Amino acid sequence: MNETERNSLLVKIRDKHILIENLLQQIGNRFSQSGCASCAKVCCEEGICRETVNSDFLRYILGEKIKDYDNQTGWFKQGKGCSLSYGRPFVCYEYFCSKFDGTNGVVDLQQLARLFRQCYSKELGNRHILTVDDIQQIAVNKLAKILGNLEQLVALTNERLRGSESQTASQHNVSVKRGLAQPVPIIFTR
Ligand code: SF4
Ligand code: SF4
Repeated sequence: MNETERNSLLVKIRDKHILIENLLQQIGNRFSQSGCASCAKVCCEEGICRETVNSDFLRYILGEKIKDYDNQTGWFKQGKGCSLSYGRPFVCYEYFCSKFDGTNGVVDLQQLARLFRQCYSKELGNRHILTVDDIQQIAVNKLAKILGNLEQLVALTNERLRGSESQTASQHNVSVKRGLAQPVPIIFTR
């Protein structure tokens, strides 16, 4: 009974997790295409990609895709960039790069990325889900909380995506000086 419930929650968590990554990538593409596409010193490295191999949770998110991992280059493909559309380490969405300092939308994206990571805090003992050796050991009530957190984040990220779409549209029509993002009003359940 618990096993079925656990597996069903894990499947739902995986779906929401992938959806959030997709939304974050849509927001990130607004500025990373100009910045990262012309970057002379790309920050991707196998040492960062490797978290996907080491983490039971990221392996679960990746599923069969994990077989494509390259021990030399990780997920990075020369001339193409990251070959993962989902299952990336959280840090890959945090855009801690001085190239984007002051760029509209980056603060928002960094906040959302931090919340994404926080959705999975303290899942087994005091450990973040990334460091849990076997995600099947996580209690059903904890998984239900994670799912609730992710659902809130999907709603918030969609809202931010729509907001940034209308901001982008308005930039083409009128010159409007925008301020930095407001703090995100969201409280996750632990
Ligand atoms: S995040 Fe910064 S360092 Fe990394 S690829 Fe983009 S521009 Fe380059
Ligand atoms: S964005 Fe992709 S290639 Fe770059 S460090 Fe992350 S997983 Fe690796």
